[in-house]
Amino acid sequence: MPLLKKILSSLFPPCCTICSAEGSLFCPTCQNYLDFLYFTPQLIPLNKLLENKKHLEIDIKILGFYTPPLSTAIKSYKYQGLFRLAPIFAELLYNHLIFPADIDIITAIPLHPKKKKQRGFDQTKLIIQELSQKTNKPFLPLLIKTKHTQNLASTKDQDTRNLLTENAFALNKKHQQNIARKHILLFDDVVTSGSTLAACIQVLITENPRKITLCALAHEG
Ligand SMILES: [Zn+2]
Repeated sequence: MPLLKKILSSLFPPCCTICSAEGSLFCPTCQNYLDFLYFTPQLIPLNKLLENKKHLEIDIKILGFYTPPLSTAIKSYKYQGLFRLAPIFAELLYNHLIFPADIDIITAIPLHPKKKKQRGFDQTKLIIQELSQKTNKPFLPLLIKTKHTQNLASTKDQDTRNLLTENAFALNKKHQQNIARKHILLFDDVVTSGSTLAACIQVLITENPRKITLCALAHEG
């Protein structure tokens, strides 16, 4: 640990965002209570999309249910700016999910620049950059967000969700040529209905990737 970091962490030791115990932002005791997702959720917008794209292979890897302590940690991360949780989330993903060796590119659901400005940081990008280091797979921002949408978490109606995410994403022209025949890991922090993921996949498949592995921290059913 660099000296300055060492001094700072001894002066301000991290406290668990859930139980306040000193030592870690998400302590091992609280991590023990994590509800791991033991099934692959059926994401309806995704199934609909794939009806016509049967040749595309899709895999889904989600760490846990969106319940405490994981949901509490994610909320602290996103809404209280506790961005130092990013390496802890990346480690949880890396330790508990199996990442196929043939993944070519890691990418994330992009945040609209306006939202990034509000929040001060891009929550998915920070986690995925850490995961990219651990897995030794390059991170490339393949997608950009073109439409500023309201928080989908507050929108329960499926049709409204689909409408909001429609045409909300576009390919990042800088990396467009890197997609064909590649296995892409697409990350989002919390998956609810899957409409955001479906909207992103719809854009990615125009460049004919070989496989897409969806990865998320939590599933909110
Ligand atoms: Zn704790």
